[in-house]
Amino acid sequence: MDSEQLREYGHRMVDFIADYYKTIETFPVRSQVQPGYLHNLLPDSAPDHPETLEQVLDDVKVKILPGVTHWQSPSFFAYYPSNSSVAGFLGEMLSTGLNVIGFSWVASPAATELEIIVLDWLAKLLNLPEQFLSKGKGGGVIQGSASEAILVVMIAARDKVLRTAGKNALGKLVVYSSDQTHSALQKACQIAGIHPENCRVLKADTSTNFALRPELLQEAVSLDLEAGLIPFFLCGNVGTTSSTAVDPLADLGKIAKSNEMWFHVDAAYAGNACICPEYRQYIDGVETADSFNMNAYKGLLTNFDCSLLWVKDQYAVTEAFSANPEYLKNKASEANLVVDYKDWQIALSRRFRSLKLWMVLRLYGAETLKSYIRNHIKLAKVFEQLVSQDPNFDVITPRIFSLVCFRMVPIDDDEKKCNSRNLELLEAVNSSGKLFISHTALSGKMVLRFSIGAPLTEQKHVKEAWKVIREEASYLLGKRLV
Ligand code: PLP
Repeated sequence: MDSEQLREYGHRMVDFIADYYKTIETFPVRSQVQPGYLHNLLPDSAPDHPETLEQVLDDVKVKILPGVTHWQSPSFFAYYPSNSSVAGFLGEMLSTGLNVIGFSWVASPAATELEIIVLDWLAKLLNLPEQFLSKGKGGGVIQGSASEAILVVMIAARDKVLRTAGKNALGKLVVYSSDQTHSALQKACQIAGIHPENCRVLKADTSTNFALRPELLQEAVSLDLEAGLIPFFLCGNVGTTSSTAVDPLADLGKIAKSNEMWFHVDAAYAGNACICPEYRQYIDGVETADSFNMNAYKGLLTNFDCSLLWVKDQYAVTEAFSANPEYLKNKASEANLVVDYKDWQIALSRRFRSLKLWMVLRLYGAETLKSYIRNHIKLAKVFEQLVSQDPNFDVITPRIFSLVCFRMVPIDDDEKKCNSRNLELLEAVNSSGKLFISHTALSGKMVLRFSIGAPLTEQKHVKEAWKVIREEASYLLGKRLV
């Protein structure tokens, strides 16, 4: 590592990235390339000799950027957001600069201790119950993704129950969730060895924004108990991927508790909004949960990756994940004086991710983050109003956070045609390059998702996006929209 080269090249790279953000609106939001486009543009093998930074950056401009979908564009309204900010960027840069691997406390004490502190800060901002804080048995950890968080707690729960039920009971373990739960749960079941027939995917209530009905859960649990199975894991949602549905946590938690099940709350996206006192109600009942997860990268101005997981019983996790080979042994760990985060996750190695969250919290402060989230929700209300005033479109589910689910209305009650027309509209809009939205299916209806959360989005972008959607719809219908 040549410090002076780093200084010179680093400045140039920062200039390059700053220019990218300055001109981000000139790129098509969704990349318009065809599959395999890069193959013909790059050589078949790595260079034998060094090339210059200019050469590489020229290639980035000409060959890479056309294949980039611009998640930081103010007209990116697809999926859920992935936030970028100056503080998040600087934190990421510092973490990369230090490039430590803090798997155990001794491997980099600050990496572990800062993570504990910052997760406690966030837990307090969310007003999580004390049991999730680090001073007792609980605590937080940064995972790379919500999917890893779910897998980690499912394995912890599985091993906990198998310690009493015996290893042969694996085939009897049952997992419960609504049919709106993210596919990360299904993946976790596959990896954790849960029998596919023991995954109860309960139909969400279509009359209440697709929440899980506690009666349905109770019924399924009772049937499984009668059949000699072991209910062991429940995943509740705060903000489902399709429509931001919120499950009734307190009621679900009661059922989980009385059946000795692990209750995990997946608030990957909507958990961010719950730092605002007026949205905290959506995680009421979290006190009944064993674990809670939210992705700071989805709404807290913290660059990917940064997924926050809190558990009430850290020992359930460490019993499942700890491994202590000779080459990792050290005094602090042996004396049980420290947290070794390698025992809270799948991999051994881990990044110093807390630096960026710490920088975000310090450089912006909690009040700025709250206003930032409120602004996106305000913009979503603007979009929702525009859609609901238009007789050619319907808002499909009640909007709670900054996602609006909508579609073009059916003509002559023809639902099938309506579905394909909405998919055509989706493709037309995204092919325009002017904005990017995504879709989902709700009760057999193809629904368009307009998800607001990019840091640069302003009201003018939302209004412009609506204009483009209407224009494309009017082409499709072959008429001017009223
Ligand atoms: N849970 C919910 C509710 C989500 O919306 C998502 C992704 O959007 C996930 C889990 C998976 O998140 P990750 O990509 O961090 O694994």
